[in-house]
Amino acid sequence: MSLIICSICGNDEFEDTTILWPALIEEWEISTEEADYINRQQGTHCVRCKANLRGVALGNAIREVVGTGEPLTRFVKTSSAGRLRVLDINGTAASEVLSALPGYVRADYPDVDMQAMPFKAASFDVVIHSDTLEHVPRPLDGLKECRRILAPNGHLCYTVPIIVGRMTRNRQNLRPSYHGNPEESGYDFIVQTEFGADAWTFPLQAGFSSVKINTVSFPAATALTAC
Ligand SMILES: [Zn+2]
Repeated sequence: MSLIICSICGNDEFEDTTILWPALIEEWEISTEEADYINRQQGTHCVRCKANLRGVALGNAIREVVGTGEPLTRFVKTSSAGRLRVLDINGTAASEVLSALPGYVRADYPDVDMQAMPFKAASFDVVIHSDTLEHVPRPLDGLKECRRILAPNGHLCYTVPIIVGRMTRNRQNLRPSYHGNPEESGYDFIVQTEFGADAWTFPLQAGFSSVKINTVSFPAATALTAC
């Protein structure tokens, strides 16, 4: 793997752990190669701040929309960061760092449902979420809500697991699949949608005018930015 710099803390040391377990690989009907890149996306993490590769990809997407080349740990101390209104839905690898911002708001399920959020239109400059959209029963409604609460030039930055070799499928008629520890899985972790190669069309269907996809190690770790 080429050198990756952590977009969140600036560190360049990463280590691997395995995340997927055999039952999940079988439910998802994915190949060993696909399982391997999902393990890299979720399991390879920064030794300093613990961000995994999807967190690093998300951090890069955030840095781009706020216009900084600095790690987020340094960006949050700048004066332009002080004016930024950020909504963090359910927490991400960048949450701890971004929570230092005066304009940071955290909204977690079930208190806040992404499909119907208690915020006024155009209240935020940046909305972020990470591996949450696949658990939302109506992902398009979730994305439309993100668009509604964003200011006119605002951006949504998010990650979602994407199986790049096939199209998105709805799991509602398939055997329930859960993320998280299989022993402790609750309903909240149930996967509603398995995103595929057409994942980029969802924000456009929800009314965003552009979509950009960032990667730090394709196809292991991608983040989407919708404007
Ligand atoms: Zn880091």
